[in-house]
Amino acid sequence: MARRPLVAGNWKMYKTVEETRRYIDQLVALLDGELGGPNLPELALCVPFTSLAAAVERVGGRPIAVFAQNMHHEPEGPYTGEVSAPMLLECGCSGVVLGHSERRTYFGETDRALALKVPAALAAGLTPILCVGESEAQREAGETERTLRHQVGEALSGVADDQLERVVIAYEPVWAIGTGKRATAEQIEEAAFFIRALVEARSHRAAERLRILYGGSVSEDNAAELFELQNVDGALVGGASLDPQRFAAIARSARG
Ligand code: PEP
Repeated sequence: MARRPLVAGNWKMYKTVEETRRYIDQLVALLDGELGGPNLPELALCVPFTSLAAAVERVGGRPIAVFAQNMHHEPEGPYTGEVSAPMLLECGCSGVVLGHSERRTYFGETDRALALKVPAALAAGLTPILCVGESEAQREAGETERTLRHQVGEALSGVADDQLERVVIAYEPVWAIGTGKRATAEQIEEAAFFIRALVEARSHRAAERLRILYGGSVSEDNAAELFELQNVDGALVGGASLDPQRFAAIARSARG
């Protein structure tokens, strides 16, 4: 079963509205004539909340999806500082990153909270990119699979089997995020295979269709190798996505 690759840029807490507009104009110019064509993967930009509406407006209906980087599971309520799925939808957002390791590390995001957020995103019609991955200490202790089993199991516990294929899972080993240390092709394929097997245990159909991305120091120099891996269907790109030239180069290497 062929899965359409997805390359998503995670801007983290970078870019003002003005910078967002400039970036999108540059990206569109760089990929002119190729956007939406068979030689590019599906593209998404995961931008700060303040840039969502401007990004959607600037994309102007071209096939570049705009995603948020977090979301509360309730549609509304007394949750100061939070943003809900209906609010994201109103901005024209089509997906959301959930459980990024920076949110887990700095803001106390838990697997329990993700067990509510992932189904809430799906129910609203948003595509969740669920981030999972082990720390360096967990890898060294031989606990990579145990960590992934727990993270995937809990975050997807509230998702019905027939909805699983709509989730995107990003395997992002914590030690490779923003460090310049990329996991080896073998480590990435092993983890992606394991994650797919976890999904397979619940639904064969979902396991065949669900997309698994790799994230962690992806660059224009190492992306091509990544896209050849059997169980990897794209990338979640942090630092390198901040430059439209680098992001366009990574997107191009996912073609075919
Ligand atoms: C990320 O932000 O999800 C990420 C993988 O960052 P980087 O590409 O900078 O390692």
